[in-house]
Amino acid sequence: MSGTLFIVTAPSGAGKTTLVHGLLQRNADLFLSVSHTTRAPREGEENGREYHFVDVDRFHTLRMAGEFIEWARVHGNYYGTSRSWLAAQLEQGRDTVLEIDWQGARQMREAFPDAVSIFVLPPSLAELEARLRGRGTDSEEVISRRLLAARGEMRHVQEFAYVIINAHLPAALDDLATIVQAARLRCASQRMRYPHYFAFLEQD
Ligand code: ADP
Ligand code: 5GP
Repeated sequence: MSGTLFIVTAPSGAGKTTLVHGLLQRNADLFLSVSHTTRAPREGEENGREYHFVDVDRFHTLRMAGEFIEWARVHGNYYGTSRSWLAAQLEQGRDTVLEIDWQGARQMREAFPDAVSIFVLPPSLAELEARLRGRGTDSEEVISRRLLAARGEMRHVQEFAYVIINAHLPAALDDLATIVQAARLRCASQRMRYPHYFAFLEQD
């Protein structure tokens, strides 16, 4: 039994957290992986909800113990996905969403070739900047660093199976929900989820 893995990647500020949050509200049977990070919590973020916030020493201890199935340094902070949590999720057949950067996405696609990878593009760099500022959670220095990195990150869009242009939020959310639905209708997923409909295959 294995759930489907959805990887959502975007430059910071493109709206992936907003989209994934909307998706999870629509689909109660989807689960979000909570990463570990060495980044400081933003206002309103809670340990264990948005991230497991750890210091650099702890991160490297976990990393060296093989606790991360993928990890990367992004914008000067470390981020990683828990190997044991993810394995348990997928073994239970739970469809799981990872919000990770392109480096992590690459590692995950190698480990899970059936993973569904989705890149979220902002409609323009000017709009990306407006969203980063409008979010009001990052310092000017952090915003500049993230904007500088955005173009390089967006160059990796072609490594992804699906692309969502997040211009109009409801339309982008529909796109994301459609991708999830289509992946769930793949033959292997349907057979795993509803084996009784496929019982005829076992008969002579
Ligand atoms: P990310 O997780 O990719 O860094 P967020 O989801 O935090 O991005 O979104 C960045 C900001 O842009 C937030 O303030 C969010 O409300 C806003 N936002 C997201 N999608 C849209 C959209 N389609 N139109 C306008 N603003 C948006
Ligand atoms: P933020 O600090 O804005 O929450 O996230 C910054 C970047 O780190 C985003 O691109 C986000 O997708 C990425 N990220 C978050 N968690 C992980 C993770 O576990 N692994 C990797 N590789 N990237 C992550």
